[in-house]
Amino acid sequence: MGVYAAKLLNKDMTINRYACQFKSKQVELLFIQSKLMQDKKLAQFLACIIAVVSMLVTFFDKMIIQPDFWPEIALIGRTITVFVCVSAAFGISFVKSPKQLIKMVIAFMMFMFLNMQFMVITYERHYILHMFFDVIVLITFYFSTLLSLKLSALLGVFYSCLAISVIYFNKDINLHSFYVVILAHIAANLAGSIMAAHEHIIRRELFVRNTQLGQLAQEMKKQALKDALTQLPNRRAFDNTYEHYQKLSKENQYKSKQVCVVLADIDYFKRVNDTHGHEVGDAVLEKFSTFLTKSLRASDDVYRFGGEEFVIVLPLCSVEDAMIIVNKMIETLNAEPLHLNDMCLSIRASFGLTVMREELQKSVIARADSALYEAKEAGRNQLVVKI
Ligand code: GH3
Ligand code: MG
Ligand code: MG
Repeated sequence: MGVYAAKLLNKDMTINRYACQFKSKQVELLFIQSKLMQDKKLAQFLACIIAVVSMLVTFFDKMIIQPDFWPEIALIGRTITVFVCVSAAFGISFVKSPKQLIKMVIAFMMFMFLNMQFMVITYERHYILHMFFDVIVLITFYFSTLLSLKLSALLGVFYSCLAISVIYFNKDINLHSFYVVILAHIAANLAGSIMAAHEHIIRRELFVRNTQLGQLAQEMKKQALKDALTQLPNRRAFDNTYEHYQKLSKENQYKSKQVCVVLADIDYFKRVNDTHGHEVGDAVLEKFSTFLTKSLRASDDVYRFGGEEFVIVLPLCSVEDAMIIVNKMIETLNAEPLHLNDMCLSIRASFGLTVMREELQKSVIARADSALYEAKEAGRNQLVVKI
């Protein structure tokens, strides 16, 4: 669902209720694509059902139908039907695109319809009970929604015309029975198309709702991993990425470039809040986040861990390089005040650096925190490394 939700972002998903399709061709295509797996399974299921029903009918026909109505050639027809159904059920597994499936369903239905009429011709001239099968097959075919409403109606009407003609030219029945046949076919096509129209619309509405839910879930997931103030990934995002860092750290444990972790904390931040107000405090946090991000390499990550505390991860970085990067930050903070809207504020920060080993997240954070604590104790505005 996620894939389709992403592709459908900002697309018009209005349904044309007369055509029973999406107004946008692109959305319709994505919808058809999204239900391909489901349609394949349904088509396979129906092919198997037809095979089983054909076998059962063959078995029971001999008991129900009077012997002189039952031609041996019908057995050949049924055997072919079973063979084609099983082959189709097997062949559908290899279908790759909706277009291929549509072609296969049309070919299969054409075969079914012609085969059914072949049977009708072989039966005795008075026998028209097969008409009930026609009605069931037609309604099931419409209801499956394997083809669009237009295509289903085209095939349905074609079959009815064929079936009615076969009865008209081949059967020996009175006019009253013939009208019943016509009525049954009209009813089957009408009921089938009304049910199919309803089903086509419901499935599309469900698709819209699922897509919207998928998009909402994606958005919420994104929001849940982001800090609202600084737009940096948050602690939960760090938790989620921790496994990846652990893998990286394991792969590089004997190399000089490992995964360095830095805990950064703004010095005397409470004073900023107390002196200039909470809003200025917020602005400082935003500026400080941008400063951190800009000071790092593209491959490094910054997380807002909480309050005015940030976790910086430097993957594939030697301790020496990490120290250079952090010391450069301290230098810059000392040299340049942060520019807020209408004031400049000198902000300092302390940093605790460590290297990630194969360990629990809380161990690496505890070590970085202990280094940070030492930096604070030693007078702040500095980096302490603890490996
Ligand atoms: P130290 O140098 O020891 O780190 O001192 P400090 O004042 O920075 O540390 P302390 O932990 O005492 O204070 C952190 C303050 O950060 C307290 C809290 O009010 C403030 N704070 C936490 N989150 C936010 C926030 O989202 N916005 C603002 N404006 N302030 C925040
Ligand atoms: Mg602080
Ligand atoms: Mg703090």
